[in-house]
Amino acid sequence: MADFLCDAEDALGRAKAPSPAELDDILSRAGELKGLSLSDAAKLLMIENEDALGAVYEKAAEVKSAVFGPRVVLFAPLYLSNYCSNDCLYCGFRKSNTTARRKALSPDEAVEQAKILSRTGFKRIILVAGEHPLYSGVDYLIKIAEEIYSRTDMRILHVNSAPVSVEDFKRLKSAGYGVYQCFQETYHKESYKVLHPTGKKSDFLYRLSVMDRALEAGFGDVGIGPLLGLYDYHYDALAAIAHSKHLEAKFGACAHTISVPRLKSAEGAEIKDAPYPVSDEDFRKIVAVYRLSVPQAGVVVSTREPAKLREECLLCGASQISAGSSTEPGGYGRSTGGIPRDRSTSQFHLGDIRPLPEMARVIAEMGFLPSLCTACYRSGRQGNNYLHVASSGNLNELCTANALLSLKEYLIDVSPQPEGREIIEAALNRFLEEFKGKLKEDVKKKMKMVEKGERDVHY
Ligand code: SF4
Repeated sequence: MADFLCDAEDALGRAKAPSPAELDDILSRAGELKGLSLSDAAKLLMIENEDALGAVYEKAAEVKSAVFGPRVVLFAPLYLSNYCSNDCLYCGFRKSNTTARRKALSPDEAVEQAKILSRTGFKRIILVAGEHPLYSGVDYLIKIAEEIYSRTDMRILHVNSAPVSVEDFKRLKSAGYGVYQCFQETYHKESYKVLHPTGKKSDFLYRLSVMDRALEAGFGDVGIGPLLGLYDYHYDALAAIAHSKHLEAKFGACAHTISVPRLKSAEGAEIKDAPYPVSDEDFRKIVAVYRLSVPQAGVVVSTREPAKLREECLLCGASQISAGSSTEPGGYGRSTGGIPRDRSTSQFHLGDIRPLPEMARVIAEMGFLPSLCTACYRSGRQGNNYLHVASSGNLNELCTANALLSLKEYLIDVSPQPEGREIIEAALNRFLEEFKGKLKEDVKKKMKMVEKGERDVHY
């Protein structure tokens, strides 16, 4: 077993919920923005007391604000294919699901979907595919990236795809992908074996070492996360933190994102209910502990979760959410507000179907700043470089300025309904006014450039 999993197991074996004095001490260390030890993170995961949890959420919100400022990053997934050669018991794309209508987008269809998302306001998307050598292999993903980059104004493509060799990761990276994302599903080896009975994915260690290969191949940014509900969350969440620490020690960069997916029932899956259910309260605790333990990582909550919980997560450390998602290949433009037209081709059932304009409005109403920014990828702030800027505290101002510029562009190009527009515009003006001195004048100048028609204006 990998050393970092042994470390997580050891820390959890010794962990008890902290006393009030211990909790104060841990939270004060978390406020230094250097992350927490596995032993501290394990203690926080053991907390059940409501008041203690309240203190953890409050500190997580503070840390999120100190690292990322008020911004909440919005993104959308583009599902390319639901062919899969694996047989994960909980997934609707599994190869034994004979009721699934299989579909792999052609390059033209993928371009069409990207154009729809771009018209909606997204300039960063994550391409998602089942794991199949032909319908989601490296050659296919390279072709899709080439076509989308050359025929649309999409600015950055991330990818969630099957683990591959270092050589193949190098090819994927050269195609222009930003973040490479892959979920371990569960870090618990015995459960993993049962849940992934056949196919390449049944090799636990090959999947566990996927991020080492991606980083070795030159991907500066990687996204990790267990699928909550497959095994005891205390272990899986702590293992994800240990995974990030392992990557940071070896490559100098923590996980760029830690996603918090929770198992949802899927048409054609063998397992309908989570073997280890995770309550909403536990879910929020996990979000907060990720934030405090790996402060520079984006903590991502997808549309799997219901609207109310997603909003609560924004108050305890989440920094990225998807909006208006379809998990059906080719689903955009054929569905209303992200509701899949055909459940037999989608990966799981969605909990929040609110489209982008509504999510942007809600985020603004909550006092945050919706961001559609892609600046880090345009300016080379990735991997070590990103971590350096994020740790210095400078990311906060830079990101806020870039978020404002991306929002201005969105308001001009997409022009959401008047009511939402007013609320988003008010948030934009409020955050703009909060800048001081030279930076404020400079952002205003850049804003004028956007008004005059320049696009992709950023720091
Ligand atoms: S979880 Fe991924 S690998 Fe497993 S069956 Fe579904 S699409 Fe295939």
